[in-house]
Amino acid sequence: MIACPFWHITNYWKLTGRQAALPAKRKPRSMTSGDHPRILIIEDELPIRKFLRISLESHGFEVAETDTAAKGIGHAASEPPDAVVLDLGLPDQDGLTVIQRLREWSQVPIIVLSARGRESDKIAALDAGADDYLTKPFGIGELMARLRVALRHSAHLGAKSDAAVFHVGNLIIDQERREILLDGEPVRLTPTEYRLLLVLVRNAGKVITHRQLLKEVWGPNSVSENQYLRVYMGQLRRKLESDPARPRYLITEPGVGYRLVDE
Ligand code: CA
Repeated sequence: MIACPFWHITNYWKLTGRQAALPAKRKPRSMTSGDHPRILIIEDELPIRKFLRISLESHGFEVAETDTAAKGIGHAASEPPDAVVLDLGLPDQDGLTVIQRLREWSQVPIIVLSARGRESDKIAALDAGADDYLTKPFGIGELMARLRVALRHSAHLGAKSDAAVFHVGNLIIDQERREILLDGEPVRLTPTEYRLLLVLVRNAGKVITHRQLLKEVWGPNSVSENQYLRVYMGQLRRKLESDPARPRYLITEPGVGYRLVDE
């Protein structure tokens, strides 16, 4: 896995011999977005931007890059991307503002980049409408996985609602029949456990903040009742995980929320 600290980037360039070939111009968009999704990078740090461009292009993405919030918003409006990778610390405006502005008219998936230990930033970004986050330094494998999830979600939104049957590992959740099977055996959930699980299923692969989960399951007056979540997540794990202490499906995102894995 290639991580983002600068020496890694330098090594990457040495390994691939691509330092002279940094693409300066965008290729014309000849394929549908499904074939070559276009990613807009909004990031002021040049080495990270270059790292992102090289990595994304080597995975078949088209890349556009900007270094300020204002240019990013303008670019997203003039040439709508399929996903946005957004740094939260930008020179002109806060990345949060970018999310809020984009969400006024666009549902484009947004993945934020944030510095380690800034949990409150991540939470604010997710609550403002970001789809996911990566903590710097991050591996390229991680970025690709998050992008795949985000693009899959927006494809679902564009088509029809999420599939009625969710399937991961040995777990099957059939929303139409309200049936949950683990290793082929039915699992009985309480109504609240089921509601909580459904919110996670409908956002599978993405991190959902404590606040978002509490609001969806218990209502807007309960958004700070984190202990509800701890209790019910514990119950769900006891019913759905073979080792509740080391969950395979219901993952804790420390200090931020939870994620139901989708692959
Ligand atoms: Ca920055």
